[in-house]
Amino acid sequence: MTVLAINGAPAVRVASFPPQQTLGPEERAAVLEVLDAGVLSAFIAEEVEGGPKVVAAERAFAEYTGASEAVTVNSATTGLQVALAAVGIEAGDEVIVSPYTMSASAAAILLQNGVPVFADVEDSTFGLDPRSVEERITPRTRALLVVHLFGHPARMGELLALADRYGLAVIEDAAQSIGARWGDRHTGTLGTAGVLSLNYHKIIHSGEGGVVLTDDRPVAVRARLVRNHGEVSSSALDVDPVNTLGSNFRMTEMEAAIAREQLKKVEALLALRRALAERLSRRLRELPGIIAPEIATGCTHSWYVYCPRLDLEALEGIERRQIAEALRAEGIPVQEGYVSPVYLQPIYQRRIARGARGCPWTCGHWSGETSYAAGICPVTERLHGRELLALDVTREPLTPRDVDDVADAFEKVLGAVDELRERS
Ligand SMILES: *Cc1c(COP(=O)(O)O)cnc(C)c1O
Repeated sequence: MTVLAINGAPAVRVASFPPQQTLGPEERAAVLEVLDAGVLSAFIAEEVEGGPKVVAAERAFAEYTGASEAVTVNSATTGLQVALAAVGIEAGDEVIVSPYTMSASAAAILLQNGVPVFADVEDSTFGLDPRSVEERITPRTRALLVVHLFGHPARMGELLALADRYGLAVIEDAAQSIGARWGDRHTGTLGTAGVLSLNYHKIIHSGEGGVVLTDDRPVAVRARLVRNHGEVSSSALDVDPVNTLGSNFRMTEMEAAIAREQLKKVEALLALRRALAERLSRRLRELPGIIAPEIATGCTHSWYVYCPRLDLEALEGIERRQIAEALRAEGIPVQEGYVSPVYLQPIYQRRIARGARGCPWTCGHWSGETSYAAGICPVTERLHGRELLALDVTREPLTPRDVDDVADAFEKVLGAVDELRERS
């Protein structure tokens, strides 16, 4: 007799998992207030601070995170670019970055004409492995771009110590980790600059948007210039124009008003994420063949994505694809791996980013060597290719009952691997 839905038995779950929806009357009222006032953006050439909603949002993000300065931008991607410019990255500078991340973390380096150098991640924190980072440091290395993937803080103690020892800037990609803390400090406030995302798919959002955090006053001044065409550097402010070439990376008053309201909800949203993730982990820890996500000592997690790993040894020949297909048949939306290692993308494989002539690798500003070949980051490739499962089930508006269904499905599938073995 079969028990698994993939073999025709009833599924654990039939209902779909509803999408996140965090907007309410507060955001609506805040937007209407801006519309009624009629000023949708108040930036002009000499007004680098923006309008009242932008200023209020920046004050709120600084207060919430404990950063001394917060600079809003129109995305985390442009925020990373602004941060890299503000800390002084220029053509041919190497920036060491995680390959297990959204493509934007590395693209921001290319957009600044820097050269991304990929170091491997750890399979516990999913962040950069300090040992791999140290192996990749060269005389051309200028910065580390550290991603707090899935909302778990990277190993900041060792990474900051390395940066200190080698004189490197540290940019934190905290797009997924708003509110996650390393010790008592927020991710995004530990390095030279950090970046939050307010994209629609993130924990809180304003449709599109981002926030650059820093304690470094000159970095903040430069970030505000780069956000705003860099125009003022020619006149009002006494700022060295190096790296102030800018674009229009500004947020509108409406997005800033929404972001301000969303931030008021972030701790409640995070508390729900933690409660659901802990409930799921308690169940998964009891099961064979699966390793629940760990939280490093002294860290808090924002649970942007819930990622357990398969214990392939314990599963004795059963592969992730079989488990994932069986879980999906039980009604659980599970993804195999996260995103493929960034260096495997065509622009790295062919070393073509700007134009067809190979910039920034062959522009004459860089004479280093770095490999983008398959195999350079074995832990990333193992996680992505074979072990990691990604679940978007630890969030509003889901309930303990929803994660119990997820746990029931894992228990059912992992308890019937012989049935999977017979299928193959
Ligand atoms: C979403 C995301 C980004 C980009 O954020 P946008 O605001 O959409 O530009 C960058 N890095 C990571 C890790 C992300 O998850």
